[in-house]
Amino acid sequence: MAPQTTSNLCRCKSCNTAFRTELPTNVPVEEWVAALYEVRCPSCGAGTGQLGIGANLSQEEDMALRIDGPADVRAANWHDRAEIGASAVSLYRYFLSGSTEGLCVPDDLSALRRCIRLLEHVPEWTERMSELSADPKWGWLAANWPRVVDLFRAEAPTLTGPAPGTQLLLAELSSEEPL
Ligand SMILES: [Zn+2]
Repeated sequence: MAPQTTSNLCRCKSCNTAFRTELPTNVPVEEWVAALYEVRCPSCGAGTGQLGIGANLSQEEDMALRIDGPADVRAANWHDRAEIGASAVSLYRYFLSGSTEGLCVPDDLSALRRCIRLLEHVPEWTERMSELSADPKWGWLAANWPRVVDLFRAEAPTLTGPAPGTQLLLAELSSEEPL
């Protein structure tokens, strides 16, 4: 069986560096733990005991990851280095392949932030959001995308921290019938 891994965002408690690391998923738990104990902070070398798994990236950290180049190169860079999650990765796959299979929508503000940041790495995909307005899962959000993003930025300019109005709008829109 081909090795399978998941990419995990970690943050070092010693030097506060955030970084991604791959961990195997289809191995016995001892092997998974052994792989975990090999992880080191790329900045200061601290080991597993000093690393928190499941970190968020600040706006500054995400901006520092942005590169120039063609859209597919910037997209791959986002996928390999930035903060990813199920809904953002499903958007990324849709924009690259056109396949709506496995599309999932952001179910909280963190997931919404990851989708918005993907579009900051690849801004030319923003105008393609309307392509999804007929999708049964994404339709309600795609049709209201500019409104949701504007409200989120107004409430939380760095897309982190509380944004109660955005949360309400997400809940309200997701309860509407698809277009
Ligand atoms: Zn460190």
